[in-house]
Amino acid sequence: MTHPFLDLPPMSAAHFASIEDRVAKLLATGQDVVIMQGEALLPLEGAIRGTAGPGTTALNVVTGPYGQTFGNWLRDCGATVIDLAVPFHTAVSADRIREACAEHPGIDFVSLVHAEAATGNTNPVAEIGEAVREQGALFYLDAVASIGAEPVLPDEWGVDLCVIGAQKAMGGPAGVSAVSVSERAWARMAANPGAPRRSYLSLLDWKERWIDGGRKALLHAPAQLEMLALQACVERIEAAGIETVMARHASAAAAARAGALALGGGLEPYVHQDREAAPVATTLRAPAGVAASELVARALESDPALPLAAGGGALAAEMIRVNHYGPDATVGAVQASLAALGAALAEKGLPVDLEKARRAVENSWRQP
Ligand SMILES: *Cc1c(COP(=O)(O)O)cnc(C)c1O
Repeated sequence: MTHPFLDLPPMSAAHFASIEDRVAKLLATGQDVVIMQGEALLPLEGAIRGTAGPGTTALNVVTGPYGQTFGNWLRDCGATVIDLAVPFHTAVSADRIREACAEHPGIDFVSLVHAEAATGNTNPVAEIGEAVREQGALFYLDAVASIGAEPVLPDEWGVDLCVIGAQKAMGGPAGVSAVSVSERAWARMAANPGAPRRSYLSLLDWKERWIDGGRKALLHAPAQLEMLALQACVERIEAAGIETVMARHASAAAAARAGALALGGGLEPYVHQDREAAPVATTLRAPAGVAASELVARALESDPALPLAAGGGALAAEMIRVNHYGPDATVGAVQASLAALGAALAEKGLPVDLEKARRAVENSWRQP
């Protein structure tokens, strides 16, 4: 008897290419799409090391922890890095990008995280893309947390390197990821003596040995199970309709924000403006004097399956994350998360209205 996922025939190059094509369609892109055989940090790091070097002046936008990581890679490559950090309760604006470019005319690379699951904000990439184009800089975007939750349109927005992973709103595997690469980005890499070559981090290897060869021979045995899972998850999104999947995430975020405010007890949306709140996940500010990590731990005791987490690092004191993405982008997951947080707040003697929160979630979800 053959095992359902152990005794599989090797994945063919044609099959691999067909999954890349499906991902390209999801991104509505005519750029080359490379599926990399590792978690999204692989193409995120590979794209920076491929395009940045001692001659690069990079504007690195920091709206959460990933931006800090990108800045470190850029510095490690020898780039001159201008960090543009904004408070985590807000988003960056195109005007801030224009101001930075006016101040540092040498900027030729801009790195940005689209949506941050870790801080709950989302940045206006379409507008920022215009500012980056005016500067003529290469535009690097981490869309891992936005793909599936809100539109991601690298061609329309002028993104040169757009990295996605399937493990958030796509509800897919974490072990493979993809990057779309513009002609400009390929040219930058080809001209970069420091770009990884003959390396697992190398995008150029995939260009020269896979794409330029007509996608006939894979570089190495692919992570077959993860590739099949990626295919299945894209098929599931296609069947539901990407618009429907995105609408579920937008509803979950709106409902979580409305529900938290109705709940009371001092709980507040962490991101102040609705339009700057990411559809992928909602962050909440714990009431003064109450540790977010403690509230989350208490809520998870009641149900360990709830999509709740405390903020990372120092944010654990004040930030609660409701990770309503993928299979948890449902009204039920939002209701259960707020009910458990409400119970934990009530235990602390804080005044909460569980029924008001329940109705607020329900009413918000119904709105188109
Ligand atoms: C989740 C996420 C990633 C992927 O990193 P993990 O640590 O594997 O979760 C990258 N970028 C952003 C913005 C993310 O939200």
